[in-house]
Amino acid sequence: MPATIIDGREISNHIRTGLEQEVTKLTADGIKPGLAVILVGNNQASRTYVTSKQKSCKAIGMHSELIELSEDVEEQVLLNEIETLNNRDDIHGILVQLPLPAHISETKVIETISPNKDVDGFHPVNIGKMMTGQDTFLPCTPFGVLEMLKYMELPIEGKNAVIVGRSNIVGKPAGQLLLNENATVTYCHSKTANLASVTKEADILVAAIGRAKMLTADYVKEGAVVIDVGMNRDDHGKLCGDVDYNDVFEKAGYITPVPGGVGPMTITMLLYNTVKSAQNVLSNRNSGK
Ligand code: NAP
Repeated sequence: MPATIIDGREISNHIRTGLEQEVTKLTADGIKPGLAVILVGNNQASRTYVTSKQKSCKAIGMHSELIELSEDVEEQVLLNEIETLNNRDDIHGILVQLPLPAHISETKVIETISPNKDVDGFHPVNIGKMMTGQDTFLPCTPFGVLEMLKYMELPIEGKNAVIVGRSNIVGKPAGQLLLNENATVTYCHSKTANLASVTKEADILVAAIGRAKMLTADYVKEGAVVIDVGMNRDDHGKLCGDVDYNDVFEKAGYITPVPGGVGPMTITMLLYNTVKSAQNVLSNRNSGK
């Protein structure tokens, strides 16, 4: 039987409709959620992501602004920009688009963003909170993966979840969030021996590798939930995931397409985190903090 498609666009639209209503309420209370995006240099892919994030903010009535810095900007100038944004009341979320030029320390940049405005969820304070199951800003892509599973009402507790990929921004937090939901989690990476024998045990398989169509049906258990985070170009330059969609489609129980799967969820969870940050400001104001 073919897999059920997990439609990231539909789930995103559903979440964004709720967020739009929340933005209207917050704005009426004098707190219009605002996101500042810093773009360093002229990387075309980064520019496309940033434009898309800004458009999505505006579409639900949020304030959004772009700060563009040249490729050769001094690190301290960037850090000063972040500090200015940290201190602005009309900005609730700060995002520095990665990757950065080699002369700038990503770690320093991430650690300069106030944890209260770190809507990407990359600050070590927020990662620590996520690890310990505290309320915080969750990293957008793994958060999107979790929300997709919840929207589809797919059980997580007690399931074998296998994550292929262990990057700090996708693989590691994706596994942690599923662990927080009581899945039994296994991480795989480039040094994993006999990858297929591990992935074939997965009830929930998350691919975050960056290799076009690498996971074929041979890597997948019959009826598994397959979440494809990958965004790659195939030999014809067409956007594709890490999963060989056509090959896996008949075997999986559920599958996310690329495009139209995890991609739209990432931006949606960024909007969610920025609205959450504005809500935090409102509840602090109401409690006199
Ligand atoms: P990354 O930092 O390059 O990490 C890739 C991971 O895959 C690493 O842990 C690596 O293992 C592992 N890996 C590489 N080759 C492997 C192999 N042959 N077998 C098993 N594991 C292998 O990439 P990332 O930033 O996590 O992104 C992963 C993919 O998701 C990319 O296609 C990216 O474009 C996409 N992405 C999509 C979104 C979205 O919104 N949809 C957001 C972020 C990223 P080692 O650790 O051993 O090197």
